[in-house]
Amino acid sequence: MNWLTRIKTLGDKIKRNFRKKFPSKEEIENSKWQAKNCCNSGPILKEDLQKNYYQCTNCFTTFPLPPSERFTYMYINNNYEILDTPIIEDPSLLTWEDASGKYKDKLAKTRKRTGLNSAISVAYGKLTENINAVVVASDWRYFGSSIGPDEGESILYACQKSLETESPLIIFAQGGGMRMQLPSAVSLMQMPRTVLGLSEVKKKGIPVIVVVDSVVAGGITASYAATGDFLFFEGKKTKWMFAGPRVAANASNTEPPEDFLEGGWAMSHGHGDHMIEQRKDTKDFLVKFLNIILKKDQSSIIGEENTDNINETTNLNKQTREAS
Ligand SMILES: [Zn+2]
Repeated sequence: MNWLTRIKTLGDKIKRNFRKKFPSKEEIENSKWQAKNCCNSGPILKEDLQKNYYQCTNCFTTFPLPPSERFTYMYINNNYEILDTPIIEDPSLLTWEDASGKYKDKLAKTRKRTGLNSAISVAYGKLTENINAVVVASDWRYFGSSIGPDEGESILYACQKSLETESPLIIFAQGGGMRMQLPSAVSLMQMPRTVLGLSEVKKKGIPVIVVVDSVVAGGITASYAATGDFLFFEGKKTKWMFAGPRVAANASNTEPPEDFLEGGWAMSHGHGDHMIEQRKDTKDFLVKFLNIILKKDQSSIIGEENTDNINETTNLNKQTREAS
């Protein structure tokens, strides 16, 4: 063994030991404890978090809600179907690879681990006895809910289902942006595609509601998440941004406030139509809202004054759409 081989062997040994000190993705997912602490209330058991729809009861930070639980929560008596969204046949459109391996292999591993074909799941069913809706939700375990070609297809499929059934489209937007690791340019193409899909639904006068779920950033903020008819935030601590706080603060050369780019901050700066403080109230709020804008059952659920306000907003929105 010459000195070069000895150094290489030693390097590999250090690398192996270093990796052992950090838990793997699987270990984090299988742990009983939430990986990140949100406030000074200490470590949180996932079980406790789950009981409050993955929102901290102390500081109200929202954590990603798995699509299956989102659908069970949204639809009445599990009255829904998960749609079989199309997937791109060749996942490795651009056959690049980086130091950590081929995208194709990483995708296969993620699909196996999550049992999903896309970060985006689409469901259709009954929110109440008289309101059907298409609901779009994202899975954080799938490349941090980033958008690649398959996710773009899923969103277009949701738009198509909404048009066919003339049902409102509710998108729980989440994710760090377009998946730039390897599909890059093909991922960026999903920005105009998804915006065009949403605009077809809006043209027919079908409401498109976007709810900011946990974190929305990058190309997601710059495309479909910002182009619905209505934008709601689920929790004040929700992140709504294009670039991250550090990058944005550096670019403007200022010291940002503590709540910079959080949902509450965004609302106070004119983004968004409504803040849903607690996730447990999301379904109730959306049903009330849809009852009013679809003119289903306005009288029993909300005061006349509020109904008029929302009707005015809806009419204004419609006029804006017709004019554009
Ligand atoms: Zn907390």
